[in-house]
Amino acid sequence: MKKILVHICCGVDAVYALRKIKEEYPNSYIEGYFYDPNIHPKEEYLLRWVETERVCNDLGIKCHLAPYDLDRWLTAVKGLENEPERGKRCSVCHDLRLEKTAQFAKENGFDAITTVLMMSPKKDFQVLKEIGEKVAKHHDIEFLSIDFKKSGGIEKMNRLSKEFQLYHQNYCGCMYALFQQREDEYINELVSYGRGRLPGSREELLFIKQVRAFAESLGLTCREESFNFVNWRVLHSILKINKQEIPHSVLWFSRSVKGLLRAKVKNIINKGDKKVAILNKYNGKIWILNEPLKEVSLEMPRFYTEPILIIGVDYEDFIQTGTKVEIKLKAVFDENGISQNLIIGNLEAPHIIEFHSDTLPDGKEGYSFIDIKRAITQNLGKIYSGELKIVIYGAKTVGNLGKMYAESNFINI
Ligand code: SF4
Repeated sequence: MKKILVHICCGVDAVYALRKIKEEYPNSYIEGYFYDPNIHPKEEYLLRWVETERVCNDLGIKCHLAPYDLDRWLTAVKGLENEPERGKRCSVCHDLRLEKTAQFAKENGFDAITTVLMMSPKKDFQVLKEIGEKVAKHHDIEFLSIDFKKSGGIEKMNRLSKEFQLYHQNYCGCMYALFQQREDEYINELVSYGRGRLPGSREELLFIKQVRAFAESLGLTCREESFNFVNWRVLHSILKINKQEIPHSVLWFSRSVKGLLRAKVKNIINKGDKKVAILNKYNGKIWILNEPLKEVSLEMPRFYTEPILIIGVDYEDFIQTGTKVEIKLKAVFDENGISQNLIIGNLEAPHIIEFHSDTLPDGKEGYSFIDIKRAITQNLGKIYSGELKIVIYGAKTVGNLGKMYAESNFINI
């Protein structure tokens, strides 16, 4: 029996290519090999790995996760940073990945290698074939060059990818390609905004995919419902009261101020569990909590975008009517924000256990993977019988958006 090791770069490329390999080599034994140190940042790499593993598990194919050799990749492509996509940097990148695949294959008794990169419409088939044959020959094994795109391969891949609700990346993988693709643009994908899983972030999506992979490994049905929303991120902020810099957080959806805002406190009012200092410019406000400083989540979406900064009770005495305040705040709004709900079990199940996937920037107000895993395993029987479903909502900390989306789209929750 021929033993084939398949280099895999993502779930989307693998979902049809693996089926095709199985079809063309029905009597062979197949394993996958995820060696992709070209994917940046690490969260994106993990996301593509989780999706690859889902695809392989579904087909009963074992897949190896190779080390994330980022330094090795960066060294290999040094000097080629500005090459266009499909240029010399890509050849080196393919060479590195396929060489490592061939080496692993030889060391572990495989007869042949191939790569699902040949599935991608953006890759040069001939270049991949030449590199594959060269590295395979060097290790005295065979390279299977398969034109997955033939006979409607791309359409089949897209159909399967939709069916499996796979994460579909919008760039090849490396930061250099992304720099060229988004020339002079702010590149959200490469920025990490905190220790938490912010709504609409890759970390939030990765969490959902990990939970999904776990639930599916127990044979449970899962469904993701994606939704768009106006997202928001703070790029930087400074608050000075009487020239002293004060630790603070910024309320979701506060707009930027131009340059340096110099304002005075007009008046201070008591508002439930906090005091609110109203500034004489920009409709700006400073919330003074009656507890130490923390990030604050929204109970409902916020439509008004005046800048609101938050300080802890320990700085309460710094602010009185007439106090001078200086603020620098740069925030960005993104109308293409995307988050998702995950429903585990039968949609029509009458009972429900609810979680949410996002957290505040400091990682608080969220659930861990273990919390959700425990709820799933403790209720397996009820989920299998259709009596109970588990729903994990996205974008909760910015006003319960996931739950609102589910309710307004008549998803049975
Ligand atoms: S564009 Fe893609 S193939 Fe080319 S170097 Fe970057 S990650 Fe590798």
